[in-house]
Amino acid sequence: MDLEKLRKTAAEIVSREDVKYLIGWRQGTFGYRAAPCFVEDAAGAAELTFSPLCSANLATYLTLAEKLPVPRGKEPDSRKTALLVKGCDSRAVVQLLVEKGVKREELVIIGCPCPGMVDRALLAEVIPEESAPADLKWSGGGFVLVKNGLETALPRDRVLAEQCRLCRHPNPVVSDILLGEPVQPWEVGPDGGVDEIEAKDVADRWDYWEEQFSRCLRCYACRNACPLCYCKDCILDRLNPTWINRAVNFSENTAYHLARAFHLAGRCIECGACERACPAHIPLGKLNRKLAREVRDQYGFEPGLDANAEPFQAAFKPDDPEEFIL
Ligand code: SF4
Ligand code: SF4
Ligand code: SF4
Repeated sequence: MDLEKLRKTAAEIVSREDVKYLIGWRQGTFGYRAAPCFVEDAAGAAELTFSPLCSANLATYLTLAEKLPVPRGKEPDSRKTALLVKGCDSRAVVQLLVEKGVKREELVIIGCPCPGMVDRALLAEVIPEESAPADLKWSGGGFVLVKNGLETALPRDRVLAEQCRLCRHPNPVVSDILLGEPVQPWEVGPDGGVDEIEAKDVADRWDYWEEQFSRCLRCYACRNACPLCYCKDCILDRLNPTWINRAVNFSENTAYHLARAFHLAGRCIECGACERACPAHIPLGKLNRKLAREVRDQYGFEPGLDANAEPFQAAFKPDDPEEFIL
């Protein structure tokens, strides 16, 4: 990625009268971090970056950004939001378009073909994270860490994030401006995490998820980081009726995770944001990818690819499998 081109393009876009702000990434202030940022002027655009640390799915901010009350006598700000997108962010945008969560005419989408992001935990296993910010770049099919002026090459397979190893759509599926050439999609190997759970018998599967869900703190970081968990009236926040109790225990935690997983079936675009946000390191990706696999295999549907598609859970085909319907 040519960062100068990225910053110049962003500066031009935020100078437009019809654009409110641009959502992108900038270098973080600690260790192996890149932070989402809202850019409103050329100075902000000059800080933008795109590196193997930019794993945050920026589509989340389209629905998460605070909508300030409109002062009496004023009109709501109807200007466009500009957004940098990798393949997975762009799929979340498409899914939001399908669900009418955002309007296409309100967006300026800047595509960033994505060679894959690192998993910060794997990176820290190879080279421990320190408080001073470090940068990372793609090079020769792998990564290079730039820290204290020193460059260290890192093999791709050692530090590549799991969702990127399994990624089938690294190039933006929708964009108004594409920065750089599309990347060559890589061969996606088996999803060992899901295979391993499928191979267990029912009792062992239950034990596995009991152990995982029992550790959940119900902090809802996974829900808040997810670009597709944006219901204004989430059942988790409801007290009347109380669909899911506030108590943090295996039973209520399981109700939460199953409700969320089924709500995301046919919608989850497998970006991994929920699992990255989880302070308890619960393998949410295995659960979501299992449902995504079922939807793909059983119904031939993959979300976030076609803005004109019917929402999966609202569509019906006469030849849909129905053996499980009682
Ligand atoms: S899932 Fe795909 S598009 Fe998203 S960060 Fe990984 S490689 Fe890039
Ligand atoms: S459930 Fe997780 S992996 Fe799926 S879209 Fe939401 S954050 Fe991404
Ligand atoms: S982020 Fe982790 S600990 Fe928090 S609610 Fe989600 S699964 Fe539970």
